[in-house]
Amino acid sequence: MNAAAAPFLPFALPEIGDEEIAEVVDALRSGWVTTGPKTRQFEQDFTAFLGDPALQSIAVNSATAGLHLALEAVGVGPGDEVITTTHTFTATAEVARYLGADVVLVDIDPATLNVDPRAMEAAITPRTKCLVPVHYAGLAADMPAILDIARRHGLKVVEDAAHALPTTVGGQLVGTLGSDATVFSFYANKTMTTGEGGMLVTRDPELAKRAKVMRLHGMSRDAFDRFTATVPSWYYEIVAPGFKYNLTDIASALGIHQLRRVRDFQRRRVELAAALDAGLAGLPLVLPPRAPQGDQHAWHLYVVRLSDDAPVTRDVFIERMFAAGIGCSVHYIPLHLQPYWRDRYGLTPQQFPHSQRAYERMASLPLYTRMTDADVARVCAAAREALQRP
Ligand SMILES: *Cc1c(COP(=O)(O)O)cnc(C)c1O
Repeated sequence: MNAAAAPFLPFALPEIGDEEIAEVVDALRSGWVTTGPKTRQFEQDFTAFLGDPALQSIAVNSATAGLHLALEAVGVGPGDEVITTTHTFTATAEVARYLGADVVLVDIDPATLNVDPRAMEAAITPRTKCLVPVHYAGLAADMPAILDIARRHGLKVVEDAAHALPTTVGGQLVGTLGSDATVFSFYANKTMTTGEGGMLVTRDPELAKRAKVMRLHGMSRDAFDRFTATVPSWYYEIVAPGFKYNLTDIASALGIHQLRRVRDFQRRRVELAAALDAGLAGLPLVLPPRAPQGDQHAWHLYVVRLSDDAPVTRDVFIERMFAAGIGCSVHYIPLHLQPYWRDRYGLTPQQFPHSQRAYERMASLPLYTRMTDADVARVCAAAREALQRP
């Protein structure tokens, strides 16, 4: 097959069905387009999906917003330190800076590419307030170790679960693990999407109350409560300078149906990852780590690393894949290399040897539910070709 003649295979694509579209149309026709009944339903469905009625799900217009609300609600403020992984998207860390707190970045475990709990513990100071693990690529971080560290040091834990729907740890879904809050993302390329959107999940009623108030201007009652009350209800109180982070009913209409399909999506992602593993076997690549026996990997990303004996650099590999019509990406350029974080905290690659080495050798290959088996074969053939000669 002439790969270059085939249509370009993008790195990610959402899968939106007729039910999502009909529900969006229903929202548009209903006259209620902002936060309202569909958002309420999406939140209830999300709690039901996680299977723990003690949880509250709070819909927001991005995971970034959810992380900001979660850190605010656990009390992160000026002078505090938040510890997270350098190997993440900047959103994980930037929210601490919104609140005037400092970010302490630590290295990863090279086997899992997840934050190293020992590095987190070593970075604790009297100013440390909160640990923010990221479940990288959809593989759970070492939550038992992180929750234990938090307990022993009296710290909060907010999970960045942008990649982790549905991921399990010891058979339990991320979102139900006993951290203070967990935040999911419904950005366009995540395992389910509302275009833009996120969900903050917590068991702590006080935290939930604060996050709900701060989600909508610091208002003591939300707009839906006010406008649907059976008695005239124009009165509200502003109790804090809040944010504008509510999710629209148009987005929630998508979310309701995407959530119903997310287990099927995950099964397809598992199949695709297994097919990629098989098709790439024997190449000079380190294939992605597997979830421990009995646990679920959400497979948001399929990240390979070039082995020492690969004949090309990562950059050349990605260029050749692109020339063969295959989109790749890199997750992530570590924060310690980004000018803002590097300069703000005087960071060097030597402080993060595992993240640095992984970054230099990694590429994310296409992995999304609309890929066909033939698409997987194309990706593997292109990788084989790209790695055949210097
Ligand atoms: C996508 C992502 C976010 C931000 O999600 P948004 O919904 O786009 O705000 C945060 N953290 C990680 C690790 C992500 O991949």
